[in-house]
Amino acid sequence: MRSNKLKQRDSRRRKRARDFISDYKKCNPCPCGNNNVEVLQFHHVDAGQKKIIRFSRMVANNWGKAAIMKEIEKCQVLCDECHKVLHNGK
Ligand SMILES: [Zn+2]
Repeated sequence: MRSNKLKQRDSRRRKRARDFISDYKKCNPCPCGNNNVEVLQFHHVDAGQKKIIRFSRMVANNWGKAAIMKEIEKCQVLCDECHKVLHNGK
């Protein structure tokens, strides 16, 4: 049984993680110039490494910034259009 205080702490932590990810996107927009955080996605550069975990899930699971950053470093920020083009080009 979790207290309300713990729930509040978790939701604050999740908000910080979400803010952290969107700040990162703002500072690292898509190479095409699109910096709309709503459409920016993380593309895993190493395609051989199939990642199941999503950033939304990391946030939901209360990952810390350091752990999230480690994943972000393996990724290239792309807008949804460029991401689609990239995958269709394969
Ligand atoms: Zn783009």
